[in-house]
Amino acid sequence: MICKDFKGEPISRLGMGNMRLPTVGGGRGAPIDFDKAAEIIDYAMKNGITYYDTAYVYAGSEDFLGKVLPRYDRASFKLATKYMASANPDYKAVFEEQLKRLNTDYIDFYLMHGIMNEDGVNGYIGRGCLEYFIEQKEKGRIKQLGFSSHAPVPVLEKMIAAYKWDFAQIQLNYLDWDMQDSKGQYEALTRAGIPVIVMEPVRGGRLASLSPKADALLKEAHPDWSIASWAFRWLLRLDNVQVILSGMSNMEQIVDNVNTFNAGGPLSDEDTAILEKACEMFRGEINVPCTGCRYCCDDCPMQIDIPAVLAAYNRAKLDGPMGMFGLMAINPGPKDCVGCGACASHCPQHIGIPEIMAELSEQLSKMPAGRGPMPPPPKP
Ligand code: SF4
Ligand code: SF4
Repeated sequence: MICKDFKGEPISRLGMGNMRLPTVGGGRGAPIDFDKAAEIIDYAMKNGITYYDTAYVYAGSEDFLGKVLPRYDRASFKLATKYMASANPDYKAVFEEQLKRLNTDYIDFYLMHGIMNEDGVNGYIGRGCLEYFIEQKEKGRIKQLGFSSHAPVPVLEKMIAAYKWDFAQIQLNYLDWDMQDSKGQYEALTRAGIPVIVMEPVRGGRLASLSPKADALLKEAHPDWSIASWAFRWLLRLDNVQVILSGMSNMEQIVDNVNTFNAGGPLSDEDTAILEKACEMFRGEINVPCTGCRYCCDDCPMQIDIPAVLAAYNRAKLDGPMGMFGLMAINPGPKDCVGCGACASHCPQHIGIPEIMAELSEQLSKMPAGRGPMPPPPKP
């Protein structure tokens, strides 16, 4: 297992995420299957994984770790957990409950959980919450203080400025590097000297298989590598990445991941070029190839943010029906399009914008007003 120094101590590059542990009967929301999950943790420990991540809001996860981790010397692993202000405003009670659940008297890596926007920042800063956790750090009950974020760079910068954070956790993978501006977030943290813990390295499993053509290209280059392992090897190229979390939910995944991190080494430049080609192929097969140049925007009589619509359309294809919520938030949006075609003639990528707007408008009109099941996004 390859490790990286953190303030004088080695920590494994692969971290065990405990949000997707196996459940009884395999159902979502069902109780954690203790024996199956404990087998994964035992394998992780035996194979040198020293970072274990959970959160107050991961159902049953803290309680489970509180039972299984005491089998091991407390100094032999790092325990990370998180406080989410929106789930329970009583941060003092939550912290005490977490220590009890986890059966420990200190947390190695403690995070303000899930910053998405300015409201998220305000949930932790300026209401005594951050100050309380700093106090716990001074008492040695928290060793390192950080936060996790899905927020855009301007919001992230506000969080960065609030405290001298020991680390931060962001969603980072080769697909989101440009698509969700993970690059900008990574660079903002790196400029601030804050080590990065990576979440969603394989985008919730989406990068475990791209498309038949893209997968074939990667398999041709390295027949013995899993498609998911390319994502981990790509992340190892980034100097400021400390730990790469993977939410491993079966033995096959952890065995594959441990093999990848035992082999060590980031992707070579040559392999990175192959991955970029596969990624381009993948995007081309499923996505609208909008580059965000905005040449189409000026003449739109309805002032629709066309590249934002297309970016949300692409995300909906990757994320499934839930991704359609992003499209609902864009206003004026596809429903306002009058089909004039003033945009399409400016598009260097020759994207059929009016046709896509019409398809999306139809899809959106079929969506329920409340948060219910939704139809899949349209085909390109
Ligand atoms: S076709 Fe729709 S999106 Fe394009 S310019 Fe006209 S109103 Fe705007
Ligand atoms: S002109 Fe084409 S590529 Fe440029 S932003 Fe508009 S749709 Fe995207």
